[in-house]
Amino acid sequence: MTRRLLPPETMSAGLILSYQCSAECIHCMYACSPKWKDWISEDDLDVLLRQIAGGIQPSPYGPRNVTLNHGLHFSGGEPFLNLDLLLKAVQLSEELRIPSTFVETNCFWCTSDEVTREKLAVLREAGMKGMRVMFPSVTSALTCENTSFPWESLKN
Ligand code: SF4
Repeated sequence: MTRRLLPPETMSAGLILSYQCSAECIHCMYACSPKWKDWISEDDLDVLLRQIAGGIQPSPYGPRNVTLNHGLHFSGGEPFLNLDLLLKAVQLSEELRIPSTFVETNCFWCTSDEVTREKLAVLREAGMKGMRVMFPSVTSALTCENTSFPWESLKN
């Protein structure tokens, strides 16, 4: 008897806006760095978000909350290098009623408490529900000579 394996239904998705990053971590799984210059176009962003909108499941804590394996996250690279595009992505996701949206960042842009609050307030107003801070493991940080990871900004 032949058994068919069916993949589970989609619950979450991550959208890479660009491979451009402010850092160049040696452990980066996508080899992101400042050398990459291309960003997803607004047209492609529109098409992709409309395609996946119906399949994104909210966090078990509700659509206004975030958990790692639910919702939609915007990633890179470093999405905050193109705040206008990130803002458009969040606004369109809100229009399409995509739940539990959040952004992944290395916090390079958190240069002060004021700047951090200001940018997060704009994104929250547009509909973003959360933020995930990515930073190298201790092992990576100790063995990584070329990383330009913005450790100082993490404090803000
Ligand atoms: S901060 Fe993140 S995306 Fe950027 S190079 Fe390092 S691991 Fe890659």
